[in-house]
Amino acid sequence: MAQHIAAVEMQSLSMQWEKFPVLNRLNLTMRLGERLAIVGPSGSGKSTILRLLAGLLLPTSGELQLFGEKQDFLRLDQINPPDVRLVFQNPALLGSLTVEENVGFLLQRGGKVDQEIVHRKVMAALEEVGLYDVSNKLPGQLSGGMQKRVSFARALINEPYKEKSAMPLLLYDEPTAGLDPVACTRIEDLIVKTTKLACGCSIVVSHVLSTIERTAERVLMLYGGRFQWGGTIQEFKESKNPFVKQFRTGSLQGPMQPADH
Ligand code: ADP
Ligand code: MG
Repeated sequence: MAQHIAAVEMQSLSMQWEKFPVLNRLNLTMRLGERLAIVGPSGSGKSTILRLLAGLLLPTSGELQLFGEKQDFLRLDQINPPDVRLVFQNPALLGSLTVEENVGFLLQRGGKVDQEIVHRKVMAALEEVGLYDVSNKLPGQLSGGMQKRVSFARALINEPYKEKSAMPLLLYDEPTAGLDPVACTRIEDLIVKTTKLACGCSIVVSHVLSTIERTAERVLMLYGGRFQWGGTIQEFKESKNPFVKQFRTGSLQGPMQPADH
């Protein structure tokens, strides 16, 4: 694959619900291997962007290319779809299946995969996220942070029948919401580790400053359907841009109105 191909190329991408515009002609180029954070108030459309990237939603207008090919929205029968792995805001684990079964779930689909290979892949992924010892437990027996780590293990597993798994796009929607600071740190380390292990690139959506600062190289600020600001993580920490300053300090004074939250 030529090096100049972008992981994500978004051109004038718009999304509206009924008549209500959420995303307004967004442009974004993301290079292979890049780690990006998207921040913005609740309801600004961050999860919508991730769902568009994952091909779960059809945009109202605009172009989206992943790894140099047009994203073929909602085509579940696509022969060789781009490798996009969405780690949901809530881990969405199946309560009646064990941790091992949850992680191996997608691999089991169709039943044509060797059980020993599935077991080995799953246990290796669980080892990476520090959950090797709880593979036989049910999700309900784990803490919130551990449940999130299960969903990370699931994202680590590549589906053997996919050819394009060399450079996946990993999407994390509020991965540390509601976790204590230590559990946050653990998840933040895992995001970077998972992304590197998978040799992929990542987009993290988060309100948590430590998560943004520890997982991303570049930050985009979404507000009013547009990217209002973009810069490196260092620029994000120092920026005097009123949107960025207000987001960082949580101030009621600034361009983002509390009524929008
Ligand atoms: P964020 O993740 O930034 O909090 P979302 O992307 O979830 O924001 O939502 C953006 C806007 O789109 C919100 O106003 C939300 O109410 C609206 N929205 C999201 N999903 C739907 C849907 N399925 N039907 C109608 N409106 C929706
Ligand atoms: Mg959201």
